[in-house]
Amino acid sequence: MKFIFVTGGVLSGLGKGITASSIGKLLMCRGLKVSAIKIDPYLNIDAGTMNPFEHGEVYVLDDGGEVDLDLGNYERFLDISISSEHNITTGKVYQTVIDKERRGDYLGKTVQIIPHVTNEIKGRITSIARGSNADLTIVELGGTVGDIESMPFLESVRQLAVEVGRENCIFLHTTLIPILGSVGEQKTKPTQHSVKELMALGIKPDLIVGRSSVELDEAIKSKISMFCDVSKEAVISAPDSRSIYEVPLVLEKQGVSELIIDRMRLKPLTRDMDLSEWKGFLQSVLSPSMTVDIALVGKYTDLADSYLSHLEALTHAAAQEDCGVNVLFTDSDRLLSEGPEAVLGKAHGILVPGGFGTRGVEGKIVAARYAREQGIPFAGVCLGFQVATVEFARNVIGLERANSTEFDPRSLHPVIDLMPEQRELNSKGATMRLGSMKVMIREGSRAHSLYGSTEAWERHRHRFEVNPEYIDQFERAGWRFSGRCEEGRRMEIGELEDHPFFMASQFHPEFKSRPGRPSAMHSGLVQAAMQRKRDS
Ligand code: GLN
Repeated sequence: MKFIFVTGGVLSGLGKGITASSIGKLLMCRGLKVSAIKIDPYLNIDAGTMNPFEHGEVYVLDDGGEVDLDLGNYERFLDISISSEHNITTGKVYQTVIDKERRGDYLGKTVQIIPHVTNEIKGRITSIARGSNADLTIVELGGTVGDIESMPFLESVRQLAVEVGRENCIFLHTTLIPILGSVGEQKTKPTQHSVKELMALGIKPDLIVGRSSVELDEAIKSKISMFCDVSKEAVISAPDSRSIYEVPLVLEKQGVSELIIDRMRLKPLTRDMDLSEWKGFLQSVLSPSMTVDIALVGKYTDLADSYLSHLEALTHAAAQEDCGVNVLFTDSDRLLSEGPEAVLGKAHGILVPGGFGTRGVEGKIVAARYAREQGIPFAGVCLGFQVATVEFARNVIGLERANSTEFDPRSLHPVIDLMPEQRELNSKGATMRLGSMKVMIREGSRAHSLYGSTEAWERHRHRFEVNPEYIDQFERAGWRFSGRCEEGRRMEIGELEDHPFFMASQFHPEFKSRPGRPSAMHSGLVQAAMQRKRDS
């Protein structure tokens, strides 16, 4: 078993996940099989109950795991599908340890952080590494070295390095190299302090990745090398880049993959790295022939991470068309106060993503109506599908006050309603309709031409659905349910026929979009938006 343990110092939000995914990508391009684990030291069992305002989007895996958004980066960069065991949280670890204690598994022992919690952590890491049959496993530790919550995890990986042999492990530490404004000098002191902290825990980094707005000066690399006791080649510069997809190339220019392969005596399949496809994709991302404006109408718009997978899916879809996307983050409440024309008038396309709770919903309904009536390309996802359905019910079918029972439990026309199996549930954690499920697509529909198939597997995360009692009424009036679940009872895709592009889905296509393999719905939106721009 071989591991790369990725830690972070100085502050959070340094792009540890992107660094780790990029390194994985590089090693993969040398023919190595790479697996990834993300550790989140919070007490939540999973990210499912966390507010996107605080923590960014909740990413959904095939198996229905509701996980940290970094797992999305691993899936996108490594083009793999991972399971929820790859996201280890303090909550999961403690729950198992406490369950074992209650069962009497510890045979009368005093149950302690060391060794019981640390053994549980090590057990989880090694079982994934073994199970995935990978040449190496990247383990990213969330948070910052020095946080109280991270301590058991750092101690566990320290022990693990001793157990599997230090030569089979690389500790990679990402830190911030701030630049002082007036003199423009790169400062290494925060890095020195954070490395010292790591060393006090018994971990000596092998590689230091210095995040900064610009490339690190040679002199600064030397200084970090000397003060932090790593060789100079092992000090890697990670300047701000134009796209996250550029990071693998920036790292590779500094010889990162070779360094890791040497240190861990890995046996790559090829000497040469084939990054041509990735570079082609990056080229379209960085210098597209045209750019379209897509309005993303939501309520978590102050934090772009809340919609991360949509942003990536739009990037993937656009790159495929040699197009760029300028996302206009639009707080849906503005549609009520300023009116749709003022807010959305310039957009070539409109995307209404998923969401929960009443706030912002009426604004999203206004957006769907405006897109439908003005012929503006529209995509709705999950809640976006539900609001498009409510809008259609109210303004085309004429069911006044139609609503989802999530927002109006006593609605006269509950066109969106709680799924029957949800009614008895009291607990919020991991109880939605979650994960990958088969969608049957109607032949001859727009969805069919975009998917190029009558079947698709897409990921879900919802409690409400189209009320089956209204399906016929919708279909007759022209809101066509071109995608349904396998049994046919659950509506998965809705589309309008006489419209440049108006499609919405109950599932979340953004989670399966990959560079070079964009989501069908995002592709449809971008293509129609390009057409609109050309026509205007
Ligand atoms: N709140 C809606 C539901 O639970 C939509 C969920 C979502 O957008 N992810 O069905």
